[in-house]
Amino acid sequence: MLFGDSPPPGLVGIARLASLSPTLQAKRTVEYFELPSRSLLNRTRPGLPFTWTANPYRGCEFACKYCYARYTHEFMAQEPEDFENRIYAKANLPHILRQELRKTPLHEPIAIGTATDPYQPAERQFLRTRSILEVLAGEAGRSVSITTKGDLVTRDIDLLQQIQRKNQIWVNITVTTLNTKLARLLEPRAPRPDLRLNAVRQLAEAAIRVGVCPNPILPLITDQEASLDRLAKAAKDHGASYFGGGILFLMPASKQVFFPFLQAEFPRLMRKYEERYRSQAYLKGAYPQIIRERINAIRERYGLGSGPVPIPTVPEERQQIGLFDEIGKITNTIRVR
Ligand code: SF4
Repeated sequence: MLFGDSPPPGLVGIARLASLSPTLQAKRTVEYFELPSRSLLNRTRPGLPFTWTANPYRGCEFACKYCYARYTHEFMAQEPEDFENRIYAKANLPHILRQELRKTPLHEPIAIGTATDPYQPAERQFLRTRSILEVLAGEAGRSVSITTKGDLVTRDIDLLQQIQRKNQIWVNITVTTLNTKLARLLEPRAPRPDLRLNAVRQLAEAAIRVGVCPNPILPLITDQEASLDRLAKAAKDHGASYFGGGILFLMPASKQVFFPFLQAEFPRLMRKYEERYRSQAYLKGAYPQIIRERINAIRERYGLGSGPVPIPTVPEERQQIGLFDEIGKITNTIRVR
């Protein structure tokens, strides 16, 4: 138990539940807890290409320096740095999801892995993502996407194929750079880029629709035309059918980790980042437009789409699928009959 047998006074809601969560395992700096949960599906704000998000874990061991989701640990009265070291596996998910799906219309898409990675190391042991895929395998007419850096996703190819028979499902594999050293700096505990690309190949060979997302594109670090071009070519060569990414955005909790990292590893960029992100989380103006055009031109060069092409599975259902980038813009939305 994190805080001993009784929670500190004043904690309510998710912060109280987190403080009471029993330890599942503690290894080196990372501790795993079981989080009592009341819900899995979270409704998104209007305008996104999916209506619901599903995150089987809170916290993410991959520890990306730029991670936008660190603020979610603040809801549990924890520090942004705890996000990568205190991982909460949600309890009782199959039962919760079955109940929630009864009230969730078929045309409302579900995105798995929007705030934490569903194939982070914890999944190898605790199988929370697999448990929700098992529930989805019993559904028909739904649209489901998975976003991950974890090559562990290939373990579940059998279930993904099962889901795909009666639903739309596709996998977004995030690869920010092909440079292994840079990836290790930016995403210290995530699988190497070549392992992620191998996962792309295996998914494509299993006829699961898969795309590569270079998210987030980091100004002056991963945004060069040549490196994005190489990444798109590798994506295509490994069987990805789409490629799309958005620019880094920095909420205060993310800045708290990213700026000290930048100061230590890229001190010459510090001033430029401070200027750009001083008063805004999202970059505006000419730069996002330049990146958008760059990505579009690269996609065209390699015949890559901006999102998955729908497969006619359940003709009587209308479904909506789409891909959004990390500046919150919908890059592709398709309705299929
Ligand atoms: S994989 Fe995603 S959720 Fe996990 S630390 Fe990296 S950016 Fe955050």
